[in-house]
Amino acid sequence: MPSPMRPGGGMRRGINSATILLTLLAAAFGYLFASRLGAFLAGRSGVTRHITVMNTSATIIIPADSGSSLAPARLAELAEQAMREIDALMSPVGETSDVKRLNSAQAETWVQVSPPTWTVVMEALRWHRLTGGAFDPTIGPMKSLFRFDQSETDDWPSASALASARDRVGADKLLFEREGMRLSFAKDGMKLDLGAIAKGYGVDRAVETLQANGVRNALVEIGGEVRSIGVNTNAKPPASWAGGIENPRGAGHLALPDIGDKALATSGDANQYFIHGGKRFKHIIDPRAGLPLGEGVASVTAIHPTSCMAADALATAMTVLGRDEGRVFLADQALGLFKDGIRVVMLLSGADGGLRRVDFALDNQGVMIETESEPAFVVPKAAEEAPQEEVRQGAD
Ligand code: AMP
Ligand code: MG
Repeated sequence: MPSPMRPGGGMRRGINSATILLTLLAAAFGYLFASRLGAFLAGRSGVTRHITVMNTSATIIIPADSGSSLAPARLAELAEQAMREIDALMSPVGETSDVKRLNSAQAETWVQVSPPTWTVVMEALRWHRLTGGAFDPTIGPMKSLFRFDQSETDDWPSASALASARDRVGADKLLFEREGMRLSFAKDGMKLDLGAIAKGYGVDRAVETLQANGVRNALVEIGGEVRSIGVNTNAKPPASWAGGIENPRGAGHLALPDIGDKALATSGDANQYFIHGGKRFKHIIDPRAGLPLGEGVASVTAIHPTSCMAADALATAMTVLGRDEGRVFLADQALGLFKDGIRVVMLLSGADGGLRRVDFALDNQGVMIETESEPAFVVPKAAEEAPQEEVRQGAD
């Protein structure tokens, strides 16, 4: 979903009524609303903690029967701590941030970064190579030319501003030195932006922390990037975690009944966009064009069996590539990516304003298959009657 880290100025949002209904369904059926999770019922002695981290909302669900000897509240605390550590290192602001230190340094000055930041940057560069540059963690200068605040605007950056930003974007100009974990920019004015990948990494780190403490059943989400392990033991009887993709243009969700024990990330344009010339432009930038993406791909959900960081990067990358380039990319990478069980669900916005659903997955011969269908959004009837509710920070 389009809730980036601080670079996007992502903000805390109230939970809409549809989400609340889904959370009620979640309690009944072990259902998880994957995008903008919101309030969720933890059951009698489990814990659901809602916090703000990475400039967006996050949720930690520890069911009563987590598998750990530690109390659910303590486990939630540890998971939260893990997320905050990642935020402190990869946020564009703050004295402890590697990203801030690098972004403030002059060109060709080496900046040593922490092992977590190094891991995320190396993974981001891997996606940059895999996608032929569609995924680019140096997108910052292009992104900061626009405001993705849902407003309608006549403003557009000048040709010289666009050209200057293009000049300062390019992961090939992000230099690295493996020994010593040092990074530097080849040009002044470059900016590292890990907004498309760090949330997924934060989710992974929180889940790993839980696992290291004996947890077998849990769910962690930051800004719509989700990873679940085990089963939801709060459901009666215990049920696999399941999910849904938020309708980016209206009410309801697409049910994803089989995402238990997996990572899932969604990129889209439901919240972070502006309107110019009657067209919607989203906060995901095509680095090759040097411009924000317009209509076309309304959302992409990527499912990975274990890595939320990979799901996060893939969802953003597929948004940039779109259906046709994305198909070629996935087919080329099929053996490498799909053998791990990756799946992609794309919602395309047509000229008539309607949405189409495209699924990419591997068949049992290892061949990539693409299927197109009308998205069947589930709109719970009582959703319209549910009251508005704010996310509660630090609530257990
Ligand atoms: P996500 O919601 O995970 O798709 O992340 C979107 C955020 O990633 C944006 O708000 C930017 O901070 C950053 N971003 C935008 N375009 C790109 C791109 N082409 N490659 C990598 N990161 C990007
Ligand atoms: Mg992403």
